[in-house]
Amino acid sequence: MSEAAAAASRPRRIAVEEAFALPAQLDAYRAADPRGDGDLRFWHNILSGAFPEVVSRLLDIGEGRIAMMDALGIDMQVLSLTSPGVQVLDAAAADALARDANDAIAGAMARFPGRFAGLATIAVQDPPAAVREMERAAGLGLTGIVVNSHTGGRYLDEPDFLPVLEAAEALCLPVYIHPRTLPPAAAGPYAYGLESGIWGYAAETGLHAMRLILSGVLDRFPDLRIVLGHMGEGIPYWLYRIDYMHALRARRMPDQPATAPSAIFRRHFHITTSGMNDPDALRFCLAKLGPERILWAVDYPYQEPEEAVRWIDGMALDDGVGIAILAGNAERLFRLSPLLETRS
Ligand code: MN
Repeated sequence: MSEAAAAASRPRRIAVEEAFALPAQLDAYRAADPRGDGDLRFWHNILSGAFPEVVSRLLDIGEGRIAMMDALGIDMQVLSLTSPGVQVLDAAAADALARDANDAIAGAMARFPGRFAGLATIAVQDPPAAVREMERAAGLGLTGIVVNSHTGGRYLDEPDFLPVLEAAEALCLPVYIHPRTLPPAAAGPYAYGLESGIWGYAAETGLHAMRLILSGVLDRFPDLRIVLGHMGEGIPYWLYRIDYMHALRARRMPDQPATAPSAIFRRHFHITTSGMNDPDALRFCLAKLGPERILWAVDYPYQEPEEAVRWIDGMALDDGVGIAILAGNAERLFRLSPLLETRS
C-alpha cells in the first residue's frame, strides 16, 4: 500500500504536546545555570551530553521531524518551545526569545503547510509584553499558548496575570499548562529524583490547575480553555475527593466558589495523553470526562512517538471516539482546519 493510501485508510493523527528548542534557548540555559545546581539542573544534565538524541530532535523542526512523522503516520504536530521555555530568563531576554520561538513555529508552518501548528511562547513574567506577543502570535497563525507552570514561584490565578487570561480568552488561545521543575521553595522534600517527571512535574502542574479552579478566577473567563498533559496530571482520578472536600469546606467557609470543582474542570479543561500510554488510565478518563475532552499527544522527543502511535491504535476505540481523540478535538480546540490536510 502506498503511503497516501495508508494515510487515507487510517484516522488522521494530530499530536498536541510536541517540543522543540532553539539554539539560543539552550545557550541561555547554559549561561543561567553553568554548574547545574539550580532551577535548570535537568537542562544541565541534558546539555552535558546525557541524552544527545533528545537535543538533536528538539532542534529539528524541518525534514528530519517530518520524516519521522511520515514514517509513523503523524499528520500534524502542535509545536511548543520546550519547558521551561523563557520563564526562567529575565523579562527582556524572555520576550526576545519568545518572539524568536513564535517566528520559528510560523516558519515551520509555512515551510510544511498542514504539518505543524503551534502554541505561542510568552514572557509570563512581564504580563504587558506577554499580551502583546499573544496578539502578534495569533496574527502569525499560532492557536494556543504554552505556560510552563510556575514563573518564579508564581501562578496564573494571581491578580498580576489577569490580563494574560483575559487576552487568552479574547484571542481564543487555549492555555496549555505544561510541567516544569518545582519552585526552589517547594522542591526541598523531593528526594531521590522525585522533583522530575516521575512525580514532581505532575504535583506542580496539578497544583497550578487546582489553584485556577479553587481561586474562582475562571468564573471571570467563561470561554477560557485550559489544557493539561499527562492524562490531566492526576486530577481526573481525584475529582470525587476534591468535590467531597470542597463541599465540606463550603458549608463552613462561604468564600469558597459555589460551583463544584469537577464542574469547573469539565467546563474549562481538556486533557491530553502525552507520556501516558496507559490503556486503563485512558478508559478511566473516558468514563470520567467523556471523549470530547481528551486529545492524543506524544510528548516528543521525551517519549517515543512509535510507542504512542502503537498504543492508541491498540486501544481499538470506537470510530467516533478514536477520531475525536486523535484529531477532531484538537481541530476544534485549536481551530485547526481539516482542509489544511496536504498529504499527497
Ligand atoms: Mn512535554
